[in-house]
Amino acid sequence: MPIQIKTLDQLKVMRRAGLVVAQMHQVIRDEIKVGMRTDALDVIAAAVIKRAGATSNFLNYHGFPAVICISINDEIVHGIPGSRIINDGDLVSIDCGAIIEGWHGDAAFSIGVGTVSAQDQRLMDICEESMWRGIAAGENGAKLTDIGSAIEQYTNSQGTFGILREYGGHGIGTEMHQEPHVLNFGKAGQGPEITPGLVLAIEPMITSGSERTKVLSDDWTVVSVDGSRGAHFEHSYAICPDGKAFVLTAVDGGRAQLGRLGVEISELLR
Ligand code: MG
Ligand code: MG
Repeated sequence: MPIQIKTLDQLKVMRRAGLVVAQMHQVIRDEIKVGMRTDALDVIAAAVIKRAGATSNFLNYHGFPAVICISINDEIVHGIPGSRIINDGDLVSIDCGAIIEGWHGDAAFSIGVGTVSAQDQRLMDICEESMWRGIAAGENGAKLTDIGSAIEQYTNSQGTFGILREYGGHGIGTEMHQEPHVLNFGKAGQGPEITPGLVLAIEPMITSGSERTKVLSDDWTVVSVDGSRGAHFEHSYAICPDGKAFVLTAVDGGRAQLGRLGVEISELLR
């Protein structure tokens, strides 16, 4: 499949989908508590989707049974909500998405619940910052692998972490997962050029130990082989027709975080 280039009108619909995802994130951040079952958060997220007149792109995706992925501690991504109770000190990663008029949004975050260890907080902070560095590197006219290179360089500059190899970011539009695949590591200056109309989901996944993972017998949950904890952050961002970036799944379009990194966001989707 060729890379799907979106018009401004299509990006406007994707922005609406992105704001539904942002709202799901906000509600989950507000509601997540020690002692809660993980499937209670799925119910809350489903209510946001319904209220917004959107549909879920996670539910029934290759048979996935819920509207969010929830992954705890050594689980890094693709965990299934269920009867598991969230404990004090858990590092919880939430990934979810929404569809509006056929256009998809997709974003993820990690959060410490209750008493968060300094080591976990640092793991999350580095993962999140690497995502912003990746988006900032993926500006109009850059090459695709500039993104993964920025993510890897920043992460490695902060210490020893495992950057997952088997999973990465992706194009997004009329399907949740489109070309191109976006690695979270590698050499800069390669791959297709980043141009207006491109929309990418950037999603670094790192652990405090090894990058090696395995999939549990539920056929979904990805855990670290060495038991180390994982973090996962994701945003979907567009290059607008004016050549400027806009983060579709961030309430402020990425203004604060990208501005800090010297990247001016587009005004076309505001
Ligand atoms: Mg994604
Ligand atoms: Mg996602």
